[in-house]
Amino acid sequence: MNCCEAMGEAVDRGAMYQGPKHRIDDGRIVNEIDTEYFIRSAGGRGYDYLGINYCPFCGRALSNSLWAAEKKK
Ligand SMILES: [Zn+2]
Repeated sequence: MNCCEAMGEAVDRGAMYQGPKHRIDDGRIVNEIDTEYFIRSAGGRGYDYLGINYCPFCGRALSNSLWAAEKKK
């Protein structure tokens, strides 16, 4: 389940990764954002995974910390 069609397509193309952090085994996570959405880019060895707070396509909040903040409102 993705927030929008554009995100689903990006995940299908391998430009984005959606899933739990611990399942990433072909690269490294380069930032500390608590999320299940990552931008995937070719790094020196394997891929670099950049965690994101918001969907770059529809702008919806994606990270766990933002979800927690939303629920408190
Ligand atoms: Zn989206």
